Amino acid sequence: MLGLMQDHPLLISGLIVHAERHHPTQEVVSRRVEGDIHRTTYAAIAHRSRQLAQALDRLGIAAGERVATLAWNGYRHLELYYGVSGSGRVLHTLNPRLHPEQLAWIINHADDRLLFVDATFLPLIKAVAPHCPQLKAVVLLADAAPGDALPLPLLAYETLLAAESGDYRWPSFDERTASSLCYTSGTTGNPKGVLYSHRSSLLHTFAAALPDSLSCSARDVILPVVPMFHVNAWGLPYVGPMVGAKMVLPGPGLDGKSLYELFESEGVTLSAGVPTVWQGLLAHVDAEGKKFSTMRRTVVGGSACPPAMKARFENDYGVEVVHAWGMTEISPLGTVSSLKSSHAQLPASARFDLQAKQGRVVFGVDMRIVDPQGKEIAWDGSTSGELQVRGPWIVSQYFRLDAPAPLVDGWFPTGDAATIDAEGYMQITDRIKDVVKSGGEWISSIDVENVAMSHPDVASAACIGAVHPKWDERPVLLYVAKAGKSPTPEAILAHYEGRVAKWQIPDMAIAVEALPLGATGKVLKNKLRDTYGRFLVDGAPTNPATPARST
Ligand code: AMP
Repeated sequence: MLGLMQDHPLLISGLIVHAERHHPTQEVVSRRVEGDIHRTTYAAIAHRSRQLAQALDRLGIAAGERVATLAWNGYRHLELYYGVSGSGRVLHTLNPRLHPEQLAWIINHADDRLLFVDATFLPLIKAVAPHCPQLKAVVLLADAAPGDALPLPLLAYETLLAAESGDYRWPSFDERTASSLCYTSGTTGNPKGVLYSHRSSLLHTFAAALPDSLSCSARDVILPVVPMFHVNAWGLPYVGPMVGAKMVLPGPGLDGKSLYELFESEGVTLSAGVPTVWQGLLAHVDAEGKKFSTMRRTVVGGSACPPAMKARFENDYGVEVVHAWGMTEISPLGTVSSLKSSHAQLPASARFDLQAKQGRVVFGVDMRIVDPQGKEIAWDGSTSGELQVRGPWIVSQYFRLDAPAPLVDGWFPTGDAATIDAEGYMQITDRIKDVVKSGGEWISSIDVENVAMSHPDVASAACIGAVHPKWDERPVLLYVAKAGKSPTPEAILAHYEGRVAKWQIPDMAIAVEALPLGATGKVLKNKLRDTYGRFLVDGAPTNPATPARST
């Protein structure tokens, strides 16, 4: 048709081409697995991504074939993001915190042909690779590789790149071509693959960079703590080159001290991660009496951000918390907690409460809440129902699964229960399977946890529904004390008085050494239910998965 815009495909290679041309000297700083700091630029990353694409050609990896990574956040991983997807192959980021058997299952299910690994994971790969017959080779992200370490060829990344000129033209193809693959955490049953396209990834990147979204610009220094194997580090490895921001990639150093050092030495302005990581960081800065000199914002998502954590970041350290909600199935960005201009006049506490919610949808995501019969629920801010979403970066069907598409009339059912208020602010009340069903009333386990987390001596907490002879289920709280503190269960329960309705107070609080965490840093509630789920009827478990602590 005459007069239409150019039909130019949205491709991931376009991001690195843009960064190379417009931000060639912008830095990418990484902490390597060896512990040293490595500095490079977008121009060098672009050149090496092209060398990598040539190496994939030479190794005979066809377009559309899967190339897996088992790596921390680092510059070579960033090169893989561009070299693999940009050349038309599919980047499959594996989570190294999974059990070897689960990893082998995923590698086979995805039919991965090559596997790029950080040296840290070589022992893991020794256990996994013999069970993955279709893997052609493993590539060590290092200068050299020990020759006979594996029963299949083990190549060295730098040797592969050194053999190529970098004189390579990124191919052009349909933007609906697959670009990358990520498996869900799979707390029940086998993990499920979510296949992203170039189009979905690019649209998601535009949305993530927006001011009311993650708000990223060329003046930012972005440190994604969220791993590049957890839903593409929430899109930040694409956002950085798109906006020309400096990137700081923390490698394996995710403890509070290592992170704090990088924040300060590299002038980080924006970060992103799950609440468990921020607990470690806050514990470090609290203990050492440190302040942040450049950090302005941090994105918290992956699980609910406890309001007490938000208050500490903002009141004690002047770091704004941007609460965001998302899922592997939705690339992952769904909602972000940013205010509207009409909220400027609200009292500070009302603004805080609004921003403590999971927030408003970013353009591109449409949401609704439905009752168990599938009927849409009004946006009154108090009635909760299952959250459903749809849009161009939301899954339509799981990868290579024979089961029918998970959509309901075109909507993806998230498995999360939520309320939405009249202004469109969504609040997750619970994972539907984690809600405590007490005598026909529902108690949000997140609400119960947030009260415990507001106790000054509590580091983390998890609430489960335990079987109860009269009420079907009652809340039981497991809590971990802050270092050097030992609040009693009685003190914790007393903290609920006046903060929630009486019937929402847990029947029991139990001090534990630690909470069991899954591969992406979330509390494994099914494990807690296995251990403590019959606590109220049978008494203490004989062999607790999470040792109780005597207080
Ligand atoms: P994953 O696909 O592993 O990232 O897990 C997605 C799930 O994490 C969502 O369905 C939610 O249950 C949970 N989640 C993510 N972000 C939040 C948040 N800000 N608040 C509460 N739950 C969240």
